[in-house]
Amino acid sequence: MKTDEIDAKILDVLMKDGRASYRQIANRTNLSTPTVSARLARMIKGGMIRKFVPVLSTDSLDRGLATLVVVKVDSPSAAEVANHLAKLSEVQSVYTTTGQLIILKVSLETVQELQPFLAEHVPKEAQIISSEIITGTIKEEKLAPTIPRVLTMDLRCDYCKGSVTSSRPYTISSHFSRYYFCCKTCRKAYIAKNGRKLSMKTPLPA
Ligand SMILES: [Zn+2]
Repeated sequence: MKTDEIDAKILDVLMKDGRASYRQIANRTNLSTPTVSARLARMIKGGMIRKFVPVLSTDSLDRGLATLVVVKVDSPSAAEVANHLAKLSEVQSVYTTTGQLIILKVSLETVQELQPFLAEHVPKEAQIISSEIITGTIKEEKLAPTIPRVLTMDLRCDYCKGSVTSSRPYTISSHFSRYYFCCKTCRKAYIAKNGRKLSMKTPLPA
């Protein structure tokens, strides 16, 4: 199942303000609140939105020392090393280059932490080319994220577990959840099986 323009509008608001309420998103996108809530539920269920988390500004964390570390790794393990380093909370950015270099921006509390940090986290097969303390930041800007026009969600039919491919899937809304079906037959079969447990409401807009 693919996202459409409505999903994109909602995501656009959320990417800028992850704490926007359904009502605020609705206002900013000219959609109705039920539409926003239904679309978000679908994107969460479809695994497209994994979680809402705060992105802390590293500036506000106030780590005293920023350094640029250049590491050289022979090709087979370069990606592995870069991925390992990227997982560390001290590592703010990781770049790989055509010359098999990995360039890291590492934020630490004090200069005394730098050598132990490198000794612990840079594997032996990698060679540290340089580690420089950043003395001034002239420009560092996060570009506004762009949302791809179309993303794919893996929304599964609640009856047969098959892929829901239609952009207007068959649904059932209960008090607590919303169920999605690939076809009318699955929806009917699901109601036949679980009918008593489902408290039906008028369906929300897709
Ligand atoms: Zn199905």
